[in-house]
Amino acid sequence: MKQYGTGTKCVQAGYTPENGGPRQIPIIQSTTFKYDTSEDMGKLFDLETSGYFYSRLQNPTCDHVAAKIAAMEGGCAGMLTSSGQAANFFAMFNICECGGHIVASSTIYGGTYNLIKVTMAKMGIESTFVSPDATDEELDAAFRPNTKLVFGESIANPALTVLDIERFAAAAHRHGVPLIVDNTFPTPVNLRPIEWGADIVTHSTTKYMDGHGSAVGGAIVDSGHFDWMAHKEKFPGLTTPDDSYHGIVYAEKFGQEGAFITKATSQLMRDFGCVQSPQSAFYLNLGLESLHVRMPRHVENGQAVAEFLEAHPLVTHVNYSGLPSSPYYERAKKYMPKGGCGVVSFELSGGRPMAEVFMKHLKLAAIETHVADARTCCLNPATSTHRQMNDEELIAAGVPAGMVRMSCGLEDKEDLIADLSQALDACAG
Ligand SMILES: *Cc1c(COP(=O)(O)O)cnc(C)c1O
Repeated sequence: MKQYGTGTKCVQAGYTPENGGPRQIPIIQSTTFKYDTSEDMGKLFDLETSGYFYSRLQNPTCDHVAAKIAAMEGGCAGMLTSSGQAANFFAMFNICECGGHIVASSTIYGGTYNLIKVTMAKMGIESTFVSPDATDEELDAAFRPNTKLVFGESIANPALTVLDIERFAAAAHRHGVPLIVDNTFPTPVNLRPIEWGADIVTHSTTKYMDGHGSAVGGAIVDSGHFDWMAHKEKFPGLTTPDDSYHGIVYAEKFGQEGAFITKATSQLMRDFGCVQSPQSAFYLNLGLESLHVRMPRHVENGQAVAEFLEAHPLVTHVNYSGLPSSPYYERAKKYMPKGGCGVVSFELSGGRPMAEVFMKHLKLAAIETHVADARTCCLNPATSTHRQMNDEELIAAGVPAGMVRMSCGLEDKEDLIADLSQALDACAG
């Protein structure tokens, strides 16, 4: 599949039917798998041969879909998780344990920020947050001897900042650690972080990959590029014997391309069990089959809506990296020449009261906390996700009271603009 384009991989990678086999990926709705002898099964438990024995660790349906996502990202191995949160936690905790330290971009998704700042701190993991626009000197200053990884989002949710992946990867590699990029918003159709130096890529597949608001899920892809053995002392989990598997050394037994995902599956899935169900993986795959057709439409609608809003007198500011006025315009053009995603955020001149009137009058755009779905939806953080904050706190958090986040779906852009236009008229009147 390597020689094919991302679109072809969206449709066909990850699963090749046998002669007379089902054309579509079969849903293997089975918790367990049968063997003829205990010796056969013992080899699986010793990680001597690969195969299935219990769906908490691995399931064929999920593996086909994970292999497709890995192929789309240009990685060597992948796994599905129960959610994007689980994917980011596993990707980090697989190489950063108690006593470790994480350098992360400050504009990441709120759930991931809490995960690093609060929950992983309780596990004895420290963190330093840096601006996605940090200089090389500022980046270098964030590292400590116990730093194990750098984390960022290619397009941040909801800040919509664009990560300078090449520069963040170079900083990580200068300090002997990998760069993990959450690539949920652009998807591999618009950006493949591994091609720019990222070592591990994560996804909330709940968003564009599923694309229809049907199933919560996550994915992790390993590039196979990071040489764990060259930084042996930093990553003992991969480079020293695992007592829970008869002293296996992952980086030796499974090599640079197999170590990361094998450890995450055989240790973290075994112990935490954040599995995606085969049924959800099946829905996810239906979404993937059309991802390359859907993403350009999300971008087209996002661009049209952003341009319309920027020209409107009641809109004071629009965040969208496809607008030449965006501070991320040049960077977005470099990393995402086909565009980024369909999520736009903007500020209304009348603050919170105007945002309420505006959203009440929208007919097509539903009020939801979700984004990246076929149906256009919107949210005013000040009256929903951030409602515990006062106006000053909202400004400090970068989500002023009059800010609206709009996720442009797959409808006709003329209809979306007409909907926005009549809701803005209601604000003026
Ligand atoms: C939604 C989201 C997550 C969390 O994913 P869930 O599937 O909701 O757990 C993580 N990162 C980004 C960028 C997201 O948009």
